[in-house]
Amino acid sequence: MPTPRWERFEAFLWETTSLLVVGETESLVVDPAISADEVAAIGRRADELGAPVRHVLITHGDWDHVCGIGGFPDAVAAMGEETAAKVTSGVAEASVRRAVEALGFVPAGPPRVDQPFARGSAVEAGPFVVETLPLVGHTADSCGFRLRELGLLVVGDYLSTVEFPFGTSPTAYRLTLAGLIELLRADPPETVIPGHGPPLSADEALGIAEADLGYLRSLHTALVDTLSGGGTRDEAHAAGLAVALPREAAPDLQEMRGFNVDKQLQELLPAAATA
Ligand SMILES: [Zn+2]
Repeated sequence: MPTPRWERFEAFLWETTSLLVVGETESLVVDPAISADEVAAIGRRADELGAPVRHVLITHGDWDHVCGIGGFPDAVAAMGEETAAKVTSGVAEASVRRAVEALGFVPAGPPRVDQPFARGSAVEAGPFVVETLPLVGHTADSCGFRLRELGLLVVGDYLSTVEFPFGTSPTAYRLTLAGLIELLRADPPETVIPGHGPPLSADEALGIAEADLGYLRSLHTALVDTLSGGGTRDEAHAAGLAVALPREAAPDLQEMRGFNVDKQLQELLPAAATA
């Protein structure tokens, strides 16, 4: 029986990754993206290899990760319950529609969910056993996938060489990075697959995780030090904005720097407080 293998596809925006995992007679795709043509090419490749896509796994409900589900109407689309809720409520489809209007690409069709699962439990996808792990911080619904037989750890929007960490909870993000650092040291995969940018060795991923944690730690420290020294909310905000990013990123992500500061401030000061 041939060893299962994998191929990475890159979409037109943000070096977005789609991962095709090829089994003997069927394939699994993680986060198929972005345009209908790009998604169709993944399906064609799987057909060519004699292993049509039967399973779709989704790391989280952001538009660039759910927009390709519709390209695989006959596959089973599996995702964590929290991501499934974003899909069934229509939130995910609305965000895909906004992206289509802003960027002018043709989408594969509306997202859907066939098989929700509780993050943390292993999931069977045809011949593949997938360990799932909650990775909160970028979004509350994010989920990582470990395909142990293939040496793969798929992390969604963490550990990217082309982005800096941003998300809905900087505090949760730090805890997730600390957990990933532990995992990469104690139980390293052969390859880490980030949702944006190239695959990484476990050592490379560890370097990214440590740099990202350093940035979020510095952001937190800058705010706490300013506030505990009697600084105002605005002064804390300015101190947070001055914290250096761990790496270069696309110009359209720069606004997320201020978003991080706002979110970290919310986690330190109640909204009503006028420090
Ligand atoms: Zn993304």
